[in-house]
Amino acid sequence: MKRMGFSTIAIHVGNEPDLATGAVSVPIYQTSTYAQEGLGKHKGYEYARTQNPTRSALERNIAALEGAKFGFAFASGMSAIDAVLKLVRTGDHVILGDNTYGGTFRLFNKVLSNYGIEFDLVDTSNPENVERAFKPNTKMVFVETPTNPIMTITDLKAVSEIAHQRGAKVVCDNTFMSPYLQRPMEFGVDIVVHSTTKYLNGHSDSVGGFVALNDEEDAEWIKFIQNSVGAILSPFDSFLVLRGTKTLAVRMEKHDQNGRAVASYLADHPKVKKVYYPGLPSHPQHELAKKQQKGFGGMIAFETGSLENARTVLESVRLCTLAESLGGVETLISHPATMTHASVPKERREKLGITDGLVRISVGIEDVEDIIEDLEQALSKL
Ligand SMILES: *Cc1c(COP(=O)(O)O)cnc(C)c1O
Repeated sequence: MKRMGFSTIAIHVGNEPDLATGAVSVPIYQTSTYAQEGLGKHKGYEYARTQNPTRSALERNIAALEGAKFGFAFASGMSAIDAVLKLVRTGDHVILGDNTYGGTFRLFNKVLSNYGIEFDLVDTSNPENVERAFKPNTKMVFVETPTNPIMTITDLKAVSEIAHQRGAKVVCDNTFMSPYLQRPMEFGVDIVVHSTTKYLNGHSDSVGGFVALNDEEDAEWIKFIQNSVGAILSPFDSFLVLRGTKTLAVRMEKHDQNGRAVASYLADHPKVKKVYYPGLPSHPQHELAKKQQKGFGGMIAFETGSLENARTVLESVRLCTLAESLGGVETLISHPATMTHASVPKERREKLGITDGLVRISVGIEDVEDIIEDLEQALSKL
């Protein structure tokens, strides 16, 4: 049979009508255990940390969306990333993108370092830097593309080739794009992770994470970790994300459309010094973004010039909500230097371009005229 289209997969894989009742929506199996017919005789479900039908449905669904054979749902994006890092051991070295999500850096810097896992921060937007950073004990390359909030792109195909020639695995945090806009495995990436908290769930009402991969042995280990450590996604959250992915394609189309419109509005605004958005022809990696992504999405950062200007914009908006997080239907606006990137030392932040005047927007799917009008009244106060 011909491979189904993305939206068909999103709506149907994992969402087959319930065998017992015919329920069209996957039920929330809110149970901790399952009755067994006899000793060692059961329906494949013994205890809900190990197996839960609602979670299994979601796992099949997102794995299919990423084009992966296996998928595992976790209690948060961070616990998904932590599980993936249990594929490396004491004495191993990891090449980590120099501008990953703050929590990922913190996990390496403050937690994994206590267990003898070495890492180097590398600007992976130039594949040559990745090549140079390789050591004999390098086992993994961990990248995020586009990065938060400067929207730097890593060439997934080039980095995967470099890593595979040297026997290392590539992990891509695909949270910013979602599988609708970017499918890292098509470029050779071995493992995809997500914070489902963002676009996959899409409604700002659940925290979760996901690991998708193809290697059977690694998948067995991730499954073992999921059960051994126990940071599983709850049945209710699994239901919410499963509901979210049904509309992923239409939501991402709209985020992308609105993102492009807001970015070009900001790029033309006299008070805005710089706009970071891969969809703008002025973005240094616009061509690579076009090749690797199906669209550019709804994440934009822009430079207002000073902390005072950023504060004025952030405190003047009325429709856009001042909040951390991203990927929901509502437009969220934030200040990376004091919010998401507060734990990054100022010197490092400035080097990455995360100045005190930088503002980040997660463009929602409201009517774009309303979003622009709100930004217009806020920027007019500068
Ligand atoms: C939010 C986020 C995470 C962490 O996910 P949680 O669900 O908050 O634990 C990881 N990576 C990226 C890119 C994120 O945006």
